Amino acid sequence: MKNIRNFCIIAHIDHGKSTLADRLLGFTGAVTQREEQAQLLDNMDLERERGITIKSHAIQMNYHYEGEDYILNLIDTPGHVDFSYEVSRSIAACEGALLIVDAAQSIQAQTISNLYLALENELEIIPVLNKVDLPSANPEEVTDDIVDLLDCDPEDVIHASGKTGFGVENILKAIIEKIPAPQGNPEAPLKALIFDSVYNSYRGIETYFRIIDGSIKKGEKIKFMATGKDYFADEVGTLNLRQSPKKEIKTGDVGYLITGIKTASEVKVGDTITSLVNPTAERIDGFENVKPMVYAGIYPVDTEDYEELRASMEKLQLNDASLVFQPESSAALGFGFRCGFLGMLHMEIIQERLEREFDMTVITTVPNVSYHAFTKKQPDQIIMVNNPTDLPDPSSMDRVEEPYIRASIITKSDFVGQVMSLCIEKRGEIVNQTYLTTERVELIFDMPLAEIVFDFYDRLKTVSKGYASFDYHPTGMRPSKLVKVDILLNGSSVDALSALIHADNAHHIGKKMCEKLKELIPRQQFDIPIQAAIGAKIISRETTKALRKDVTAKCYGGDISRKRKLLEKQKKGKKRMRQVGNVEIPQEAFMAVLKLN
Ligand code: GDP
Ligand code: MG
Repeated sequence: MKNIRNFCIIAHIDHGKSTLADRLLGFTGAVTQREEQAQLLDNMDLERERGITIKSHAIQMNYHYEGEDYILNLIDTPGHVDFSYEVSRSIAACEGALLIVDAAQSIQAQTISNLYLALENELEIIPVLNKVDLPSANPEEVTDDIVDLLDCDPEDVIHASGKTGFGVENILKAIIEKIPAPQGNPEAPLKALIFDSVYNSYRGIETYFRIIDGSIKKGEKIKFMATGKDYFADEVGTLNLRQSPKKEIKTGDVGYLITGIKTASEVKVGDTITSLVNPTAERIDGFENVKPMVYAGIYPVDTEDYEELRASMEKLQLNDASLVFQPESSAALGFGFRCGFLGMLHMEIIQERLEREFDMTVITTVPNVSYHAFTKKQPDQIIMVNNPTDLPDPSSMDRVEEPYIRASIITKSDFVGQVMSLCIEKRGEIVNQTYLTTERVELIFDMPLAEIVFDFYDRLKTVSKGYASFDYHPTGMRPSKLVKVDILLNGSSVDALSALIHADNAHHIGKKMCEKLKELIPRQQFDIPIQAAIGAKIISRETTKALRKDVTAKCYGGDISRKRKLLEKQKKGKKRMRQVGNVEIPQEAFMAVLKLN
């Protein structure tokens, strides 16, 4: 136990976490030359393509240092705010963290929010100034920033480059010398923290854990405390590049467990594993059931694909317990599902996985956050509003509450004015403003989550010319004024285009939606009136003009076989259009409300 070190790497996105992790693996020989491939830890295709780490994983390294053999367990953390609960559990499994800061970018919002998580868990922090090879690196200034942030000595900041490998040996030395060995009682009943799980289609769910007390033996009966279920530990082992099965995993170490579980929802990140016959008295603090933050409808483009979509969603849920869905139907789109996601990135990932892994073409409707509504009749009874159609009739409604977040934005002092205006426009309230240096400012805002979901991040990048970073965490529900804005095409309301909007913005957004839909809806042989309404009241109107005759002739005339070929081609590409009444609506129109400017 005294020669084990459990650590994670925390960093703002793109500051070089994955690259440095690969360097550590290469240097300690955990990965041989032949096996080395770019960014090994990000092992889902999608993750590698997007350059982000979606799910956390762990890997064990062996390192010989000053006559002793050490086991270094690197626990990787997801790099996006949608997955912050998983980050917090990975951090809780460690005694130390490498805090990586890009020598050209300096401290950013995620650097700080991850640092706070690490400090809450009393982790030893090893500051690393990364990318010192960059010509644009600013090592002195950024070191000062780090020293201010951590209140450490400048000599404690390790200069490194994931690109050249410079400084890697110093990092390993610091991990061994500064990060405490795990504590815990090997004789006590088993107590292990689940920090991740991965779906494997042959072996079922692999559970990744860190042992706090006791040990786990192959074949023994174990129990998951939050779910209350028990299993046989069919296989336990350590996480080298490949899994190495072991007879026993002991206090302080990190390992994997296979029990034959087939569904991800049985393995909850943050849960405690204990022994069935000799259980521990208390489970590990900090367990939460993760809740979806954003909801949207997912519908098959082709109504006949509904059952196939259901089967695909069920399969996806087996390996992603944070995806929730239930059937819903829409007058416009037919049968589909209302799905809950951890955030917008999670929503995009699910949509992409449906397309890539299951070959489904889907239409996604306007996402919304989850509101709480209360009626005059039962003012204490929460009605969960996850869909615009769930909002009670205004005449019967007592009140509505919406989720709030606390946002941290770091930007240059030149952009403070613009960033503040944007946050205020998004109904934000400033909580604090701190100058980190003379040039760099941290702004703390309380804001409605709904305003973040809608184009906030893009707008922030624009107003700050890219010099702003952003992170947030949920803070609870607050009273809100909410209305349902409906869209009518050719006189009839299209339920799948309805959106929940704050009352103060409803007229403005209704108008913008009509304008945007006018752009997006293709012209047809007749005029298409586009209207926005709140209840029976029309608040805005546009018209998509009919195509002129001669244009139609040009489009649809000509050689019949060529036309058929075109049609076939179109069918193959499964164009994302939906015929609603006699109007063709493209996929983008369903998301139009997100792209208003
Ligand atoms: P992550 O998002 O923190 O995991 O960052 P990555 O490891 O994916 O790196 C982000 C980008 O920075 C990639 O294009 C890397 O090639 C590049 N990068 C990472 N480390 C270094 C470094 O030390 N020097 C230079 N010049 N580029 C680096
Ligand atoms: Mg990465």
